[in-house]
Amino acid sequence: KLYNQVQDLKGNIRVYCRIRPFLPGQPSGSSIVEVIDEKTLTVLTPSKHGKGKKSFTFNRVFGPSANQEEVFSDTQPLIRSVLDGYNVCIFAYGQTGSGKTHTMTGPRELTKESIGVNYRALSDLFLISEQRKDSISYDVSVQMIEIYNEQSGVNVPSANLVPVTSTTEVLNLMNIGMKNRVVGSTAMNDRSSRSHSCLTVHVQGRDLSSGSVLRGCMHLVDLAGSERADKTEAVGERLKEAQHINRSLSALGDVISSLAQKNSHVPYRNSKLTQLLQDSLGGQAKTLMFIHISPEPNALGETISTLKFAERVS
Ligand code: ADP
Ligand code: MG
Repeated sequence: KLYNQVQDLKGNIRVYCRIRPFLPGQPSGSSIVEVIDEKTLTVLTPSKHGKGKKSFTFNRVFGPSANQEEVFSDTQPLIRSVLDGYNVCIFAYGQTGSGKTHTMTGPRELTKESIGVNYRALSDLFLISEQRKDSISYDVSVQMIEIYNEQSGVNVPSANLVPVTSTTEVLNLMNIGMKNRVVGSTAMNDRSSRSHSCLTVHVQGRDLSSGSVLRGCMHLVDLAGSERADKTEAVGERLKEAQHINRSLSALGDVISSLAQKNSHVPYRNSKLTQLLQDSLGGQAKTLMFIHISPEPNALGETISTLKFAERVS
């Protein structure tokens, strides 16, 4: 059946939280984050009387030892729904260095085990479309868009829709797109990403017996670092960038939280990012937000503000 809707009793917005492990060669210590169960974590916070604990709940919590396959496994039903004609957005949110690119793309040296959500999603997409080939013929094309300082498409030669037939082709396009991503030096991280990078997958399926056509679309978005401008010691051009990022991330938060609360007015027009994704946020569309946090005590401020963002959108 073509419109084989995925049962999703909990609504169309899901929020998963992933905690990065301590990194080799970095000062370790004890984590400020503790995983309580599959859906709950606590953060150690300073309080008037020594240390306090604040608890947060998500649709899923992935601890520091969760691998890429586990993190992706709950995402699989979304891929099927794209092929059924639904629109899907998958976001990676968090401060620079918290693991967004690790989740979406993988580490710098990619292996079959370490590869991230983007590749796994496309690989599943091709697999399922192959399984359905006797009844539905699918065309898949991808597009890489970068949003930098509220302008889209800059520095992306492959901003056009490119038809693809295999994951290898997509991987090549992703490599080109990644190399062109704006990266620069900040006090936080010398490879800090200050643009939102979006891999969009368009799917068109034609039912071979009836001739009817369905269209689905999936946006895989590696968001710019969520750290507050004052933390990056930014001035001049860098400060302007940080302000654009903060503005578009809070606009995204506003849109998702008004969808979560089923408000009648959804403020899509407040940023380029939400305008671009308008058709895939709300309505029948499905949203998955991967929230990333770091375990280090010196990340406490950003960790708390990331978790507060997550609370607002879930
Ligand atoms: P971001 O994209 O949020 O700035 P990265 O994905 O680049 O952060 O992660 C920062 C560093 O931490 C990278 O070296 C990355 O490979 C590593 N890292 C992130 N998450 C994990 C994880 N779950 N397991 C192992 N290493 C990770
Ligand atoms: Mg990154």
